[in-house]
Amino acid sequence: MKIRSIRTQSLKAPLKTPFVTSLRRVDALEDLVVVIECDDGSIGYGEGAPTPQITGETMGSMAAAIEFITPHLIGKEIEEFNTLLHIVHHTIVKNTTAKSALEIALYDLRAQSLKVPLYKMLGGEKREFKTDITISMGETEKMIEDALQALSLGYDTLKIKIGENPQKDASRIKSIAEALPKSVSLRLDANQGWSPQESVSLLQQLENNGIVAEFIEQPVPSDDVEGLHYIKERVQTPVLADESVFSLKDAKRLLEMEAVDYINIKLAKTGGISNALALADLCAEYGVECMLGCMLEGPISVAAGVHVASARAETITMLDLDAVALLASHPLKSDVRFNESEIILPHVPGIGVSL
Ligand SMILES: [Mg+2]
Repeated sequence: MKIRSIRTQSLKAPLKTPFVTSLRRVDALEDLVVVIECDDGSIGYGEGAPTPQITGETMGSMAAAIEFITPHLIGKEIEEFNTLLHIVHHTIVKNTTAKSALEIALYDLRAQSLKVPLYKMLGGEKREFKTDITISMGETEKMIEDALQALSLGYDTLKIKIGENPQKDASRIKSIAEALPKSVSLRLDANQGWSPQESVSLLQQLENNGIVAEFIEQPVPSDDVEGLHYIKERVQTPVLADESVFSLKDAKRLLEMEAVDYINIKLAKTGGISNALALADLCAEYGVECMLGCMLEGPISVAAGVHVASARAETITMLDLDAVALLASHPLKSDVRFNESEIILPHVPGIGVSL
């Protein structure tokens, strides 16, 4: 199975409602689909959504990075899989979302060539998953309305986007928590919006009011590793690192310092599936559980994340893969079942999503 061609095309899909965090506001999904065709006619699909505020990539830079790597992959056999992954990671530095999109298509082809679903190829067994859903940052009344709507759709875990201003955030969280049944699990994501001192005072204030979230995600700027540690030492609420961890090296530093309780793995940050698996394995060594998260991206890359979660189900105990649920519609064919909070992997070979 030789690689004959690699092309990219943009995927546009409308969102049900705008996605708002402390870093950005998005009204529609626009991401890049990678299509790799082999000489026997088989086709692998990959995908990635540029998130300039987080990975530094744009649609143009992703397409250019993929175009730059492509000549090194053309004519190579899918069976030389480790060589292909080495090429993806060593032809160019950074560009993690572009690399992830390419890797996903290669893994799709590799699993198809072995005639097994990707999760099985990776040693996984679990097929049924539950994700949380994001409640965008906005006026408190609107956030409560969105949260109640999510519960009515069957979600029992909500990811609340905050990080605008600590005082306003504290009152938002209190009002939201009071409006919801106690059984609902709240994940707080401040997207780097607070200082370490603000984080501690806000979280202690919530804790004193009986509100202990499942975790606080990335309260401080990505490079403030000491800040994460400072917070973890002073609050009951577990601390989860997102933007602070792209590479194994980033994770190792945090794990050695015992700076966080959990790590959020995203394929767009690790550069794809191979490093995501390695990152989960590294966390397992330290006894740290992970969440598998996503950017605002489409069904191919979200499905790839679910296959990874299946392959490392002991370590990846939380899913934040709601991107498909946020879409009003999309033009792809999916054997992966996305049904609001439920995601079910199919028995078909490969990833199970195609153009
Ligand atoms: Mg996050």
